[in-house]
Amino acid sequence: MTGKSGRCLCGDVTYEFTGAETWSTYCHCESCRRNTSSPVTAFFGVPLAAFRFTGKAPAVYRSSPGVRRLFCARCGTPMAFEADRYAGEIHLYAASLDHPEAYRPQSHVHTAERLPWFDVKDELPRFPRSG
Ligand SMILES: [Zn+2]
Ligand SMILES: [Zn+2]
Repeated sequence: MTGKSGRCLCGDVTYEFTGAETWSTYCHCESCRRNTSSPVTAFFGVPLAAFRFTGKAPAVYRSSPGVRRLFCARCGTPMAFEADRYAGEIHLYAASLDHPEAYRPQSHVHTAERLPWFDVKDELPRFPRSG
C-alpha cells in the first residue's frame, strides 16, 4: 500500500490511507482545543474507503450526539474524529502523521474561537466558523 501513515505516541494505534487529503485546515474551535489540549489543531479529511487502522483499534469517546472522537486507549493520543454529519469520511490530526512536515494546511476555521494569545502569521483564508 502506498500512501501516508501515522501513529499515536506509544505506537499501539497506527493508520494509513491512500490518495490525497480531501481538505486540510487549522481548527481553532473550543472542542478541538479541549480534545487535543492544544491552542489550535491542524487536521484533515480522508475518505473512509481509502483509510484503515493498522494497529490496535482506538477507543471511542462520544463527545456529543452523532460525534465520535477516537483515541489510543493506552497513551491517550487523540487519533481521529468521525461524525454522522460527515458520513463516509474520517478526520485525522496532522501531528500524528509519520511525516507531518509534508502536510500543507489550506485555511483556518472557527477563528471566532481563536485564543487571543495564539496566532499564526500566514496568508491562508480565515473563516469565523466552519470553512
Ligand atoms: Zn498509543
Ligand atoms: Zn474544531
